[in-house]
Amino acid sequence: MTSPRSLPAIDALLRAAESHITQYGRPLVTRALRESVEEIRGEVLAGASVPPTEIILARAFSRLSGWTTPTLQPVINATGVILHTNLGRAPLSRAAIEAMSLASAGYTNLEFDLETGKRGSRLIHAEAILRQLTGAEAALVVNNCASAVLLVLSALAKGKKVIIARSQLVEIGGGFRMPDVMKQSGAKLLEVGTTNKIRLEDYAEAAVHPLSASASVPQSVFLHVHRSNFKLVGFTVEPELAEIAALAHSLGLWLLDDLGSGALLDTANFGLEHEPTVQESLAAGADVAMFSGDKLLGGPQAGIILGKKDLLDKIKKHPLARAVRADKTCLAGLHATLLHYLKDEAAREIPIWWMISQTPETLRARAESWQRQTDLGQVVPAESTVGGGSLPGQNLPTWALSLPVKSPDKFLAQLRRSSPPIIARAENERVILDPRTVLPGRDEILLAALEKITTKVTK
Ligand SMILES: *Cc1c(COP(=O)(O)O)cnc(C)c1O
Repeated sequence: MTSPRSLPAIDALLRAAESHITQYGRPLVTRALRESVEEIRGEVLAGASVPPTEIILARAFSRLSGWTTPTLQPVINATGVILHTNLGRAPLSRAAIEAMSLASAGYTNLEFDLETGKRGSRLIHAEAILRQLTGAEAALVVNNCASAVLLVLSALAKGKKVIIARSQLVEIGGGFRMPDVMKQSGAKLLEVGTTNKIRLEDYAEAAVHPLSASASVPQSVFLHVHRSNFKLVGFTVEPELAEIAALAHSLGLWLLDDLGSGALLDTANFGLEHEPTVQESLAAGADVAMFSGDKLLGGPQAGIILGKKDLLDKIKKHPLARAVRADKTCLAGLHATLLHYLKDEAAREIPIWWMISQTPETLRARAESWQRQTDLGQVVPAESTVGGGSLPGQNLPTWALSLPVKSPDKFLAQLRRSSPPIIARAENERVILDPRTVLPGRDEILLAALEKITTKVTK
């Protein structure tokens, strides 16, 4: 059988694909069969023989699976990086997941006032709890912290000088650079100080045109940016946030604070260095503070803007606010996450705090049980990190399963091809699996995948 004419007809193939038609629908299965037959026709014309029907079907089914498998899939994070930006940052609490699922499954009073029966505002849903937790006068939730910064600068600093310390002109990652955001917002960047030293006088001198008697709005603003992902050590000087705030207010200017991660809990209570908290920023006198929902807050992707009511009113009215607004599922998940803080159960209920809180003894026991169950590798002391642009250089002592493998890169690739994919890291020619970031209930899947790969490797 070497003539394309002996290829089976599409109708005949369709009859053999009933279960796939149920699963994927007739039009898509027909398309997959047509494309596969076309491809094979080309191969036959080039001299190949006509393959058996099962092979033709298998090729069509593999097309179907390729077309329909989501590119976004759950993975197992065995890297020990808790807020892994590439792996989607914070996993959510059970309550947050339930709230998001409820909000998305049906209608909500997103912009509907249940008292009056009239149009309401979506802005209220997380505002009350944010105010209660932080003491802020007003709050606004947007898509993420990058959009919070862009919106705040656009609404409050367009055409004005934004005075920022040279040491804080950061690139957060993924090309998000402070100077570019400022340009985008229409604000004029004015860097002050040097890379390692900035004094209060540098700020004061830059704000040379303070509020004139007639002008109702200040001509410059101070922007403070948290150095999320790097550290400045050695011969350095930087004023306290409270000092910058006092200076700003004495000149009639606003201080905007981009906290990045913005913790609500004190990381120092968890054996980590102190990460600036949202409450501290406001207490120091920041007029507006911005931070992420999915970093140390441990909630859904969001950008949270807190601060003085008159400024928040301006921000809420800016056209960009509509463009970067948060959706109902985000607001529901954020509220549920914030409730854990209000009920003083964050460390227990929010996965990232639970991971941060794991003791080395617990982690060692888990790694040892992995070792016992698979009889693979050794349990070794290692280090987990918080990641996600918070607490750079800060590690948490952990215990990990260390696998001596011939090629760590190949082994890591095999782990990534598991279902679900497993992400680990290589260190000193070994593959390291850190239990800290493997969510409860995933151990069995992880171990089964490990055993499958290692038996394949040794055979
Ligand atoms: C992470 C970060 C951002 C961006 O936050 P996203 O929520 O990822 O948009 C902005 N500023 C700082 C200082 C950050 O650390």
